[in-house]
Amino acid sequence: MENCIFCKIIKGELPSYKIYEDEHNLAFLDINPTTEGHTLVVPKQHFVNFEDIPEEELKKTILIVKKIGKKLKDGLGVESYNVCENNDLAAGQLIPHIHFHLIPRHGNDNLKPWPQTSYSEGRAEEVLKKIKIN
Ligand code: 5GP
Ligand code: ZN
Repeated sequence: MENCIFCKIIKGELPSYKIYEDEHNLAFLDINPTTEGHTLVVPKQHFVNFEDIPEEELKKTILIVKKIGKKLKDGLGVESYNVCENNDLAAGQLIPHIHFHLIPRHGNDNLKPWPQTSYSEGRAEEVLKKIKIN
């Protein structure tokens, strides 16, 4: 896709620190890491988001996410990591080429990605009715 930063990185038109590459996916360091080793995993084909990417392609990508997660633990000696996909703009997706963030975490890093709230009386049941699948 023209003008897509990640397509340009995949084509080698923009530089990146590559961690892993195969026929279908590329993993590289995020340019503005939340923590050191913050990695992005992207399919080489331009898909916008979860709704856009075919299941078979998504499966290949998520297996690379798993591979990179293990490498972060082994290579950096970190205790844990977050896997995050910001799906569309309101969720914080600034680059509309689907990508998974892997963010190495340390017990004392004080990062709290999600604020927590609570349901008022009866509200959880109302929400559930709208999204329950089976
Ligand atoms: P989003 O907000 O779309 O989920 O995440 C986009 C991520 O891409 C951000 O964490 C940002 O730092 C990273 N990013 C943006 N431009 C570049 C770039 O040119 N190179 C690399 N390596 N990462 C980038
Ligand atoms: Zn793209």
